[in-house]
Amino acid sequence: MALTSSQLLQKVKDSIVEVTPREVSQGLQAGETQHLIDVRERDEVLDGYIPGAELIPRGFLEMTVEEDVTTDREAAIVLYCAGGNRSALAARDLAAMGYTKVSSMSGGFKGWKDAGFAIEQNGLLSDDDLQRYSRHIILPEVGEKGQQQLLKGKVLLVGAGGLGCPTGLYLAGAGVGTIGLVDADVVDRSNLQRQVLFGESVIGRPKVEAARERMLDLNPGIAINGYHELLTSANAFDILGDYDIIVNGCDNFPTRYLVNDAAVLLGKPVVDGSIFRFEGQATVYHSAEGGPCYRCLYPQPPPPGEVPSCAEGGVLGVLPGIVGMIQATEVVKLILGRGSSLVGRMVLYDAMEMKFRELRLRRNAECPVCGDSPTVKELIDYDQFCGLPSR
Ligand SMILES: [Zn+2]
Repeated sequence: MALTSSQLLQKVKDSIVEVTPREVSQGLQAGETQHLIDVRERDEVLDGYIPGAELIPRGFLEMTVEEDVTTDREAAIVLYCAGGNRSALAARDLAAMGYTKVSSMSGGFKGWKDAGFAIEQNGLLSDDDLQRYSRHIILPEVGEKGQQQLLKGKVLLVGAGGLGCPTGLYLAGAGVGTIGLVDADVVDRSNLQRQVLFGESVIGRPKVEAARERMLDLNPGIAINGYHELLTSANAFDILGDYDIIVNGCDNFPTRYLVNDAAVLLGKPVVDGSIFRFEGQATVYHSAEGGPCYRCLYPQPPPPGEVPSCAEGGVLGVLPGIVGMIQATEVVKLILGRGSSLVGRMVLYDAMEMKFRELRLRRNAECPVCGDSPTVKELIDYDQFCGLPSR
């Protein structure tokens, strides 16, 4: 029996479950809808989509639903398209695959918009970005979705020095959408041996300014916020508060303790690195995820003058490149939610022997900041704490 297209659609709609935009909105709010899938084509989605929707064009749905959405045939899935026809056909096909709780939204995206419900825009990458990030996008573990997560990432680099420079370059290249840089220094000729964001032409300029220009030249599609100031107890919450991940590349103890305490109190992860002479180490402190913090390992600072700095002890120029790369890698993994992070582990690197070792780190229940009965509940004077004259 031959069917016209409208007869076919009517027949399909009679055989599936249709829901109204209002019911979809209620289902999303109540958490009853597990997956909302927009089956329109790319160019249609550019104008907006329903917040939280997964974007899978109709032509790929059956091929990718198991991998990209769920294999659970009992999962509650709502499909929508522009007007409700393509999603009806898609619902029929998912039902044929054994999905039992599939519905199609009547009226489609137009009906949703006409009913006055919220939409989200800018959810898809532009053609330029598809090109720029193509080597990410073809990785199944990243894909367009992962690249969007990176572009929504907000990462603060504490210190634009030996560690902050390589980390900043790679995070800018990777498309981390908002990168903050805190550093009070200006570029010195002695920095150029390892601080790869800088060159002769920017000697004497504030590091955050020169770094910002270099990173925007690499990737103009991201935002770089420079803070040409010292991080202190007075500004730490304000500055750290705007970011999801803190990358510690500072070279002094007061800032190290300040960053730790502020991050623990704000519940944010610190991707930590340090370097000295021919050795480096890296870890991720994240007490909110059950990992240790810096003070779990070092509750008290060493006496002043006991630990020499890089300025006094020297550092092999390539060393911060390796450690900064480990930090950048951890940041990207944290944003993507992929892989095994360095939470609870410390990687030790010996450049002379070319050896990596790993230490297990444990949370300390007695820790003054993240322990069971913390004594540090606000930021303190860290110069005084570290036995240094106040700034
Ligand atoms: Zn701790």
